[in-house]
Amino acid sequence: MKPNPRPLLLKGGTVVDPTIGLFARADVLLRDGLVAAVERGIAEPAAEVVDCGDLFVVPGLVDMHVHLREPGLEDKETIATGTRAAARGGFTSIACKANTGQFVDNEAAVEYVRAIAEIRGLVNVFPIAALTKGLASVGIAPLRELRAAGAVALSDDGHPVRRAGLLLNALRYARDAGFLVISHAEEEALSEGGVVSAGPLAVEAGLEPILHEAEEVGTVRDIILAASVGVPLHVDHVSTARSVQIVRHAKRRGLDVTAEATPHHFCLDQSMLSERFDPKTKVNPPIRDPEDRRAVIEGLRDGTLEIIASDHAPHTEAEKDQPYQYAPFGIVGLETMLGLTLTHLVEAGHLSFGEAVERLSVNPARRLGLAGRGSLRVGSMADVTVIDRGERWRVDPKDFASKGINMPFTGWELTGRAVYAVVGGRVVMAEGELIEG
Ligand SMILES: [Zn+2]
Repeated sequence: MKPNPRPLLLKGGTVVDPTIGLFARADVLLRDGLVAAVERGIAEPAAEVVDCGDLFVVPGLVDMHVHLREPGLEDKETIATGTRAAARGGFTSIACKANTGQFVDNEAAVEYVRAIAEIRGLVNVFPIAALTKGLASVGIAPLRELRAAGAVALSDDGHPVRRAGLLLNALRYARDAGFLVISHAEEEALSEGGVVSAGPLAVEAGLEPILHEAEEVGTVRDIILAASVGVPLHVDHVSTARSVQIVRHAKRRGLDVTAEATPHHFCLDQSMLSERFDPKTKVNPPIRDPEDRRAVIEGLRDGTLEIIASDHAPHTEAEKDQPYQYAPFGIVGLETMLGLTLTHLVEAGHLSFGEAVERLSVNPARRLGLAGRGSLRVGSMADVTVIDRGERWRVDPKDFASKGINMPFTGWELTGRAVYAVVGGRVVMAEGELIEG
């Protein structure tokens, strides 16, 4: 990203940044791609001024779980469209997973993603590379080369690493290469062929179940192996009450484990689905029971789940327009995540606004080791999100910049929306409109 040639002054907003303990009205001056000053009454005649009077100014939001699909599956999403969806949703940085068409399991693929993001991306893109070659659970990917090429973490997400012995070895290599490892926790012997969460609805509909235990056994396995090796572990998309408890217990024991929740797991449960399942709700891990949803919210509240991530997983309309059992898993989330979080966690009283900023920016930036991001401390990168907490809006996929419209939130009324996204000191989204370089 090229820095804005002119300084940018975000004037008069309420600045909320837990990293510097700030929740107060202040101006934010961005210059040469960095945060130059955060204080009241900044005068900078050369600056372009954005009036933030009734708005909240926060460190640029970071989504650490995004499927951009490129290279190889560009009919679902591209780096260009995915980063535009991110900017519309208020995200200034995203980390993308390796289960693309041509897998991101080698140096050239990591370099390709970074190069295309540089040319066509509207926000910062940080590639997560595969832990095993071809995400096939057969051989370990060349981890040192992936590190040198700029991968920020490792994950076979989409699937677990299927062989525990291979995983144990791969974790040792990951530790030695200095990586965070991200777990898609699933014991496939307990989920094979499954398409919906186990329970009465699955029985009524005659659909194969995905047991809660599939995720829980996978979570325990990955935490134990990571702890025994001494490698930091992040658990993706926690969906069951017992998984939340397992992570809570691991953290209390002092293990280097973090975990995330997605908006679809804290907003939806089986009681909201009909027995005639809609493929737009088909996701892995699946939408669970009301007590699981409550446990995920409690995990977000007490910090067991310190990160909110979208698991943005775009598919074509034709792919999702199939009978439930044949449609692919996945829900898009970049353009609804902030609104769902503000409405269903903050307005609902589960999180303070500052805690939401931690889970959407500070904590994912820290966990991925994105230096200078997730903070408005002077000298940080000039990545900023400006939020209108009072704006009421209705979700309409016709407005999406993403190619994917596969999500069950159409028509939902939300309160709170990003109105500016600033990346490297350059405004890339203003009042919902994308601003191309
Ligand atoms: Zn996954």
